Amino acid sequence: MYEGVVQDLIDELGRLPGIGPKSAQRIAFHLLQADTADVTRLAEVLTVAKSQVRFCERCGNVAQAELCRICVDPRRDQTAICVVEEPRDVVAIERTREFRGTYHVLGGAISPMDGVGPEDLRIRELFQRLADDTVTELIIATDPNIQGEATATYLSRSLRGTGLSITRLASGLPVGGDLEYADEITLGRAFEGRRAMNE
Ligand code: ZN
Repeated sequence: MYEGVVQDLIDELGRLPGIGPKSAQRIAFHLLQADTADVTRLAEVLTVAKSQVRFCERCGNVAQAELCRICVDPRRDQTAICVVEEPRDVVAIERTREFRGTYHVLGGAISPMDGVGPEDLRIRELFQRLADDTVTELIIATDPNIQGEATATYLSRSLRGTGLSITRLASGLPVGGDLEYADEITLGRAFEGRRAMNE
């Protein structure tokens, strides 16, 4: 344990995802020994990002206005929605250039073990988007793990009989993995070979 603010800094860093106590300590001392200008710049970027970045009211992606740049882009196909867990998955799929529709970010996946149910995700918002029949195709691109599969199954069951085309990204993605870590070629192929869930 360190004194006062040093320990406060270590504690705060240790609350970030993926940062254990040792890393928190190492980063804290790195910052304390760094140039004041560098640390000030980091603090400013954090403050500005937190105050300016918001989430798209339609799809839940990161945005700097009410709607994200994908939702306001007239060239995007409004009849297809690709459902993902996190905003970083949008970035991964955009890199493949396989998809010209819009997205819907759920904010996670169904995980009873962690106490996350359908009502904790942006599923109601998704169903609202589907209500006016503009959307004809839903591509479910949740992570290829148990929670992602459970979420995909829940969505396809809930939308059974709606006449919507529902597909799931093909296998070839590493099972148990995270979508965002898949390379562009694998993810691109998974997109091309997606399979129907409602047949
Ligand atoms: Zn959006």
